[in-house]
Amino acid sequence: MSFHLTEEQLEIRALAREFAEGELCPHAQEWDVRREMDPEIFSKLGDLGFMGMRVPESHGGLGFDLTTYLLVLEELAWGDAGVALGVAIHSGPVTGLLAEYGTSEQKDRYLPRLASGEIVGAFALSEPEAGSDAGALATSWRRAGEGRALTGTKKWVTNGARSGLVVLFAREGRDGRISAFLLDPDLHTYQVGKREITMGLSASETVELHFDEVSLDHGALLGVEGAGFAYAMEALEIGRLGIAAQATGISRAAYEHARDYAEERVQFGRKLSEFQATRFKLAEMTTRIAGARALTFSAAAALDGSTDPESHSPGALAAMAKLTASEAAVWTADEAVQIFGGYGYMRHYPVERLLRDAKGTEIYEGTNEIMRLVIARESVGRAGA
Ligand SMILES: Cc1cc2nc3c(=O)[nH]c(=O)nc-3n(C[C@H](O)[C@H](O)[C@H](O)COP(=O)(O)OP(=O)(O)OC[C@H]3O[C@@H](n4cnc5c(N)ncnc54)[C@H](O)[C@@H]3O)c2cc1C
Repeated sequence: MSFHLTEEQLEIRALAREFAEGELCPHAQEWDVRREMDPEIFSKLGDLGFMGMRVPESHGGLGFDLTTYLLVLEELAWGDAGVALGVAIHSGPVTGLLAEYGTSEQKDRYLPRLASGEIVGAFALSEPEAGSDAGALATSWRRAGEGRALTGTKKWVTNGARSGLVVLFAREGRDGRISAFLLDPDLHTYQVGKREITMGLSASETVELHFDEVSLDHGALLGVEGAGFAYAMEALEIGRLGIAAQATGISRAAYEHARDYAEERVQFGRKLSEFQATRFKLAEMTTRIAGARALTFSAAAALDGSTDPESHSPGALAAMAKLTASEAAVWTADEAVQIFGGYGYMRHYPVERLLRDAKGTEIYEGTNEIMRLVIARESVGRAGA
């Protein structure tokens, strides 16, 4: 399948690439070492509109379709995968769910600030004892007077410490249904726990959040009470495409570094790029990148409503895209390290960072085993699922 990109999409992608070249690529290595990105980066992205890609124009966003959004995300990840992860979480699950299910008051209050980058969104689903099995989450709420009281712990919350709006999932009591809530640090008092030291994406913030009888008024409920798990699953379909685009950006960066190095490095009197072994690696990299991108865009088209009765469901396509793109990223970054040889193993060169960053894409927003389960449910049936 080939994809026609409009003039406007090409211009938007060029703008994102320019931003990545100027604001991300020169700093990615240093941010990785310092475990900190430019604190202004999300407001700089907001100035370009890139924090409001999935926010409707009526609320100050750009209202991009999924394909345009993913084009930008791939460029950002090509520049710095940690920044792209922050934008993907902010845009997919957070602004996406708020725009879809928020009341007008909630949308008016938060969407313009999210779109401008004044505040950054976070998504709190995972818990210490509930990761892949998110439906087993234990964070709970109980009725308390006119409102609710929330108690529990959320784990690995990206953007968690800096977030001005956390979309959080909690069940009623011990075994009631799951609802979604909007947690605002200006209105609700909760504790930000320890920041994890991660293998890759080091500049991205991954934290625990603790809630101890946090008082929630009626305005904190997102959408319909008890519908939260369905919202989370819906958000993850789009979220997985964001991760697919992020993974493809990482693959492209690894491929480009490897290709350029292979053109420079001479051994046995020849450039590495003249050895068939290297050429085949580079050819395989571009093939896997093209395959991942094609699947991502066909999943995006399916989620945006285009139908092909002979194709898979949007959810299965999103899982295939995430699975293919993340495995391509790990493989491509690994081969890039190999092409760099001993230099590739050194912190000074970017490819080892890309390999560490790539690994995360096989884990978050549903591990690749869970992606295979989702795909198998459709292609093989529900037995054993
Ligand atoms: C960098 C990073 C950022 C993250 N950001 C967020 C965030 O912003 N918000 C959030 O809510 N979460 C976030 N997460 C959490 C992430 O989504 C979970 O780590 C992930 O869903 C897996 O859950 P788990 O770690 O508990 O692993 P587990 O569920 O314990 O799985 C462990 C292993 O068992 C496998 N497994 C589990 N069940 C099955 C099964 N039924 N069949 C086959 N294999 C299975 C898994 O695939 C995995 O290999 C983040 C994680 C990381 C690493």
